[in-house]
Amino acid sequence: MIEIALKDMLEPVERLEQLCGERGMKMTARRRVVARVLSTASDHPSVEELYRRAVAIDPKISITTVYRTVRLFEEVGVLARHDFGGGRARYEEAQEDHHDHLIDVDTGRVIEFHDEEIEALQRKIADRLGYKLIGHRLELYGKPIKR
Ligand SMILES: [Zn+2]
Repeated sequence: MIEIALKDMLEPVERLEQLCGERGMKMTARRRVVARVLSTASDHPSVEELYRRAVAIDPKISITTVYRTVRLFEEVGVLARHDFGGGRARYEEAQEDHHDHLIDVDTGRVIEFHDEEIEALQRKIADRLGYKLIGHRLELYGKPIKR
């Protein structure tokens, strides 16, 4: 019999809720709304953008609630915060698979990528400096090339 982990059977929208529960966070109806909005987002939204989406689901949710919920999610480690410039923190669900980001400075669009050459080069640099690499953050900023 093949065993399937519970998290693999859950829809992505339920995964964040499940994870929060496992980490001892009390999931209220409003927190669930924020969790769902985050789980379905692939664009690294800001709190303001999360609020716009949450209010479309629950018109009574306040921006303060969204702020607090995001903060709590961050504290329990289910959310990753990024500073991509533009003065607003951007969020995504914390993932086990590592990726880097390219930010379109005109539109704020975020493109995810993974490059083994870059990964290897960074390990090499750390090693040369006498360190074992345990993590890194890489953000590329660019403008689209008009071809
Ligand atoms: Zn990302």
